[in-house]
Amino acid sequence: MAQQMGNQPLIVLSDDSQRTSGKDAQSMNITAGKAVAEAVRTTLGPKGMDKMLVDSSGNVVVTNDGVTILKEMDIEHPAANMIVEVAETQENEVGDGTTSAVIVSGELLKEAEELLEQDIHATTLAQGYREASQQAREILEDIAIDIDSEDTEYLEKIAATAMTGKGAENAKDVLSELVVRAVQSVADDGVVDTDNIKVEKVTGGAIENSELVEGVIVDKERVSENMPFAVEDANVALLGDALEVQETEIDTEVNVTDPDQLQEFLDQEEQQLEEMVDALHDVGANVVFVDGGIDDMAQHYLAQHGILAVRRTSSDDISRLARATGATPVSNVKDIEADDLGHAGNVAQKDIGGDERIFVEDVADAKSVTLILRGGTEHVVDEVERAIDDSLGVVRVTLEDGQVLPGGGAPETELAMRLRDYADSVGGREQLAVEAFADTLEVIPRTLAENAGLDSIDSLVDLRSQHDGGATAAGLDAYTGEVIDMDDEGVVEPLRVKTQALESATEAATMILRIDDVIAAGDLAGGQIDSDSGGDDGPAGGPGGAGGMGGMGGMGGMGGAM
Ligand code: ADP
Ligand code: MG
Repeated sequence: MAQQMGNQPLIVLSDDSQRTSGKDAQSMNITAGKAVAEAVRTTLGPKGMDKMLVDSSGNVVVTNDGVTILKEMDIEHPAANMIVEVAETQENEVGDGTTSAVIVSGELLKEAEELLEQDIHATTLAQGYREASQQAREILEDIAIDIDSEDTEYLEKIAATAMTGKGAENAKDVLSELVVRAVQSVADDGVVDTDNIKVEKVTGGAIENSELVEGVIVDKERVSENMPFAVEDANVALLGDALEVQETEIDTEVNVTDPDQLQEFLDQEEQQLEEMVDALHDVGANVVFVDGGIDDMAQHYLAQHGILAVRRTSSDDISRLARATGATPVSNVKDIEADDLGHAGNVAQKDIGGDERIFVEDVADAKSVTLILRGGTEHVVDEVERAIDDSLGVVRVTLEDGQVLPGGGAPETELAMRLRDYADSVGGREQLAVEAFADTLEVIPRTLAENAGLDSIDSLVDLRSQHDGGATAAGLDAYTGEVIDMDDEGVVEPLRVKTQALESATEAATMILRIDDVIAAGDLAGGQIDSDSGGDDGPAGGPGGAGGMGGMGGMGGMGGAM
């Protein structure tokens, strides 16, 4: 591009680059952001639909999970990607609430579009949104319910709420019990590292047959068939070493000149291996997990002593085993002492779903557990796993924070109401932005109603009047269409799911609003939203400009392709 400077054109950008400025840039970005939100809208809530995503090599994913849908879609537009990041942050921070976060940021952009048309400056808007978001956080903290993090029954309700609408829903009683037990077993002084919960997927069997192994399952078999299948009262050794004689020694140091010498060398090697195994046997180990390989000869000696050995154990598994059994990994087998051994009531090779694995169970304090998820087909198990991930996330966050909110659109309705009051105190043009923010939040109950086939206006009116009357926990029961106390109903979510969603949605929306110039080194024209199942045609989001209760026409997008 060129600009005139006196007589000489001043070349600032290369010929290939593209530039969109001012209102065009703003509206292009807003359209892209709204389209992303539109793509996941129909999946929200217990009655949300699933999407089938097919990638370029024909792999199919069937899911209801917001972040998964957006990751699988091939989104290139830079502003659209900022919304996808909202979902990713939500996934990483709390595990659940990804769809809601994306829908809210899309709606913030949509409301903004109307205000921009009324000549409200983007900076004023962004400022108002940020103030509203800050205020919203305070309101949420104010209405949050404190819970006893030991209350298993309550935790199970939270686990179950995160599963509703996903493939796991039918078995949610069984699964939420497993999820809570898993999180409680790995909790360490109120801190939970979900990395210590391994999820193993098994195709075959019903979801209800899923189980929790309080211990570790290693996806390996014992190294030799002459070793025992199972060891009770196991003393477990973990070796960071290999049970082999270093090969380099053969290359560099041995120069064989006659057969006797070779034999002598082999004897010596054998002796070294025997000494290694003896070191294990002497301290009383009867199960050993080795990081490296195990020489045939060593296998022979191990089997002779009745030791169950596994080779090439991953370092992740070694650390899980260390946590679960209390063993200390040893880097040189000769240094092993009885103190380094861990204990397990039962170590056994068992079959799950036609695969042999080593189960290390019956440990004193299972700080590491394995959830075995079963399901009829691969697609089912995969979707159950995603639901379980969300569920593990919410239980973890609740254990850590001890604060929850009722679901079913209750907090959003309450926020909208209180933010409208707050807006009066703001004044000026920012007041309009705060009001828009309040309207935005009602997109959640509205969408829950739409997806449940209910009349969203009736539902909203009902919700508003109950909240007006002081029923803070009144939410929409998506199954019956009634507005009821969600806390009594057991539909509860961690406070952090909501605060995080609002925070990242606001950040992304304000960041997009403040952009008035898009300068791309390459071609942006191809950077449309490219979804495999239909895609959005042109400016998405249905009829804009309706204000207030508007936007109900937004059921288009990918929903039509289902
Ligand atoms: P997200 O990715 O945002 O978690 P979901 O599809 O899981 O999306 O839907 C979450 C929404 O569904 C929340 O607003 C939650 O309160 C609501 N919800 C969950 N269970 C129920 C229920 N039984 N009745 C009404 N709403 C529910
Ligand atoms: Mg959810």
